[in-house]
Amino acid sequence: MTVEFTHVTLGQRVLFGAGLAREGLAGELARLGARRPLILAGDRERAMAEQVVGGLEESAGVERLSWHGDVAMHVPVDVAERARAAAAAAEADVVVAVGGGSTTGLAKAVALTTGLPIIAVPTTFAGSEATNVWGMTEDGRKTTGVDDAVLPASIVYDAELTASLPPAMAVASGLNALAHCVDSLWAPRADPINGALAAEGARALSAGLPLLHRDPDADAGREQVLYGAYLAAVAFASAGSGLHHKICHVLGGAYDLPHAETHAVVLPHVLAFNGPAAPAAQRRLAEAFGSDSAMSGLAALYDAVDAPSALADHGMAAADIPAAARLVAAVVPDSNPRPAAERQLVGLLTAAQNGDRAAWGL
Ligand code: NAD
Repeated sequence: MTVEFTHVTLGQRVLFGAGLAREGLAGELARLGARRPLILAGDRERAMAEQVVGGLEESAGVERLSWHGDVAMHVPVDVAERARAAAAAAEADVVVAVGGGSTTGLAKAVALTTGLPIIAVPTTFAGSEATNVWGMTEDGRKTTGVDDAVLPASIVYDAELTASLPPAMAVASGLNALAHCVDSLWAPRADPINGALAAEGARALSAGLPLLHRDPDADAGREQVLYGAYLAAVAFASAGSGLHHKICHVLGGAYDLPHAETHAVVLPHVLAFNGPAAPAAQRRLAEAFGSDSAMSGLAALYDAVDAPSALADHGMAAADIPAAARLVAAVVPDSNPRPAAERQLVGLLTAAQNGDRAAWGL
């Protein structure tokens, strides 16, 4: 069989190690020659960020540290403007994001207009730190774009920083990462490299999530999940958005549903829909899950972690389904393994909205 592809690998430094965030951040600041970092951290992440940043002024040649804590989901434009003003007032030469996808997203909004480098210190499994995709919202509409200027120069991964995530949030965030892996297998720029990353990501996530769920205090599960989440994000950045991400983007933007939970609920429904038309992807996932089939492996994982199951529990009304299906139908990628017309999307969204497990087809 001929192997032929065009693949782009994004350039960034990735440091990974439990308990090493402080040391790692100091090293990256010194390497960039940064003297006036602006630290972005929301209220819930502030104490954690203070620990990571503690002592930097002495150890990394830092002149002045500035803080900005005004962070919001999906980066509203006014929130982005205030962060840009804070960066200007601080004469910042680097933005350090300590937090989840919302905080990294805010750092990207600053980088987009200022060109400042970002050091990302993730505290969830969202994966925004490994992509060159930015997103912002205005009047309830989410705009996204791709620009290498927003790709963090460095990522400092420390699994200990995810320990404070409430268990249900950790599970939803890890399943959001798994959705990056699965969707990469049929996304517009799917290729053997991002396929390999996605498969290893799915393996690590499906191994780590039950450990994390069983014992939130143990490190091993969190490390596996964080490692898998990074691979997932690299695969997603390279392969682009498939049907799953198109659906979740519409739901998050138009109905303000929570990001990670929405991805977690929708994933099995997309796998049930696309899987039969994508046998190679199914085989790969079955192998990654160590299961007879992709769907039974995913179902076993969902049972093991008490995964969220219905969009109705997260704010989606049945009345919104027809309009949502119309919006999704307009953006289904040509690469999708089977056509997804409005009528079929109504079926998929209805099953996801009311948590109809029979639709998984097991
Ligand atoms: P988030 O960053 O909004 O965090 C969710 C909640 O968890 C927040 O209340 C936050 O304060 C809290 N939190 C974060 N870390 C914590 C910790 N360690 N302990 C306790 N609480 C903690 O949500 P998210 O799911 O990480 O990110 C979602 C956002 O990221 C969305 O806006 C999404 O569009 C974006 N995203 C972007 C990309 C991209 O490539 N651009 C990729 C993935 C996600």
